[in-house]
Amino acid sequence: MTFRRIAVEEAFVTPEIMAQWQVVLAGRDVEPGFARMGETILAPTPANRMLDDRLLDIGAARIAHMDSLGIDMQVLSLTSPGVQVFEATLATRLAAASNDALAAAVRAHPTRFAGLAAIAPQDPAPAAREIERAAKLGLSGLIVNSHTRGEYLDAAKFRPLFEAAEALDMPVYLHPREPAASWVAPYLDYGLWFAGWGFAAETGLHAMRLIMSGTFDRFPKLRIVLGHMGEGIPFWLQRIDNRYLLEVKVGAVAKLPRLPSEYFLDNFVITTSGVTSMPALRLALDVLGVDRILFAADFPYEDDAEAVRFMDGASITGEERRQIYETNARRIFRLV
Ligand code: MN
Repeated sequence: MTFRRIAVEEAFVTPEIMAQWQVVLAGRDVEPGFARMGETILAPTPANRMLDDRLLDIGAARIAHMDSLGIDMQVLSLTSPGVQVFEATLATRLAAASNDALAAAVRAHPTRFAGLAAIAPQDPAPAAREIERAAKLGLSGLIVNSHTRGEYLDAAKFRPLFEAAEALDMPVYLHPREPAASWVAPYLDYGLWFAGWGFAAETGLHAMRLIMSGTFDRFPKLRIVLGHMGEGIPFWLQRIDNRYLLEVKVGAVAKLPRLPSEYFLDNFVITTSGVTSMPALRLALDVLGVDRILFAADFPYEDDAEAVRFMDGASITGEERRQIYETNARRIFRLV
């Protein structure tokens, strides 16, 4: 069984965005979750410097690293929180500049890189235009790092973004970040704001807001991609339906045309980023089916060698391995 290994949640950054994060972190009114990022993973330490070097390279060094692991293609995206911590005008400008740099890397290495465009939801009308421009640049979808200054995409003002994404068949990768300021307080202890728990709580909440707000009745062809084996939702899906039906009965929630699980199974696909657990993959296979699971390594934050070892050795059939590594990514992101 031959296959190409395509990894779909692979991060990069531009020097200008890194510099602007430090400006935000040095200012007043920093979101508490982002402030923790500034004290840890964005702090100027030698270990972070190595991470930064890997994030900044979207050329030869990255490709050499991919070759060393047998990763044929990375679908690149601007790393979290991207431009979503900036004021609207700066965010809109830096998203476009980042997308230009990304599109140039994809043009230079079309068999090795594809890309997901950054957008600035802070200003929905220009963001919708940026989605159209990104499609023309040859980018394969969008990345949104969960909340934007505490706002979630189910709000009516963001509908132009989903209109554009749906019309252009641009999947939206809903990527994690720290919980929003409105509910981050209990997460600030014990490192819970970070990737071990808070990121999934935040991103899972965002996905559930999209489902429960009827977003997929308005945009039935909209496709959302969730990393980290679905940010916990596949595990909860039966209970989400079960309690939704009770909530409808007791008047806690308005009835939707379909069950929450039906939207999840129709409008979402998930990726394996950061998860190398056979029980977790087994559950995802049982709940979603093999054609809704894509491989991701989350370079450079996770051990991508371990991600490849896990997927190469997972107890699945050769055809399933090919679907997860290659076929599904080609279909979802329309890769050549
Ligand atoms: Mn990631």
